[in-house]
Amino acid sequence: MGIQEQYRNEAAELLSSGAVKLVIGYGEGSTSDRRRPVFIRSADETARLVLDANCIANLSGYLVPEGLLSDGKSVAVFLKPDGIRSVNILAAEAQVNPDQVVILGFDIDGGQASPLPGRKATDFAPLIESQKSTGLSTELQQEADQLELMSATDRFEYWNQQFSKCIKCYACRQVCPMCYCRRCIVDVNQPQWVNTSSHTLGNFEWNIVRAFHLAGRCVACGGCDRACPVNIPLRLINHRMSKEALDAFDHFAGESADQKPVLATFRQDDPETFIL
Ligand code: SF4
Ligand code: SF4
Repeated sequence: MGIQEQYRNEAAELLSSGAVKLVIGYGEGSTSDRRRPVFIRSADETARLVLDANCIANLSGYLVPEGLLSDGKSVAVFLKPDGIRSVNILAAEAQVNPDQVVILGFDIDGGQASPLPGRKATDFAPLIESQKSTGLSTELQQEADQLELMSATDRFEYWNQQFSKCIKCYACRQVCPMCYCRRCIVDVNQPQWVNTSSHTLGNFEWNIVRAFHLAGRCVACGGCDRACPVNIPLRLINHRMSKEALDAFDHFAGESADQKPVLATFRQDDPETFIL
């Protein structure tokens, strides 16, 4: 039995037994290589679920809408390792109760989806630990190295050109599971903290504020990078912040549900002098 059939059957069993009230998974998209989220509420509908190498979106953000988990019932969700790390972050930030999340985990390798054993976020701790020890993406590191070789002036000009393309559509924010605030600071206009028009200063403000907001929280799912309609290489900003968090603080985003946020913690024996 292939993984798709296996997970359809498991989803049907979870729904018919009442173990979960909803399964969040992938369905056919608008083209043969696209998948879109589907929300399955009864065993009869599970034939709509698709699971293959095109299922790349991180679905964890669909766990957050207000009220979804407030009745105490459980929800099952299809997640790759990046999505499982997101669930840990959402749990650490009190956005989801991990006990109410059944993870239908899978990974994609060699153009194929394969099942991951375990159904609770804690079951995947050894997998996440091994990802941490493997380190961040070497492919991205090579791209990032090209930027590091530039002079500060050239690098500034590079980002200036990239950010000048930004149209402030906020697709990067909408797609990101870590951007769950009911009201984003950029939508506040009294006072207006971040300029909403798409000019250089406002675009820098938006992208830099977002980068810091995601520091130590981004799980490198690539959703923002794929969603950006003007192809700004957001992956390079996220990668840089993740590398800083890992190198300086040994912080790998989403390691566990009780991980402390990297920018909101300190050690009393911190070598920097700002700790009194
Ligand atoms: S910032 Fe981008 S890559 Fe990181 S978690 Fe959000 S959508 Fe995924
Ligand atoms: S998705 Fe791209 S264009 Fe849209 S706000 Fe984000 S960076 Fe700007």
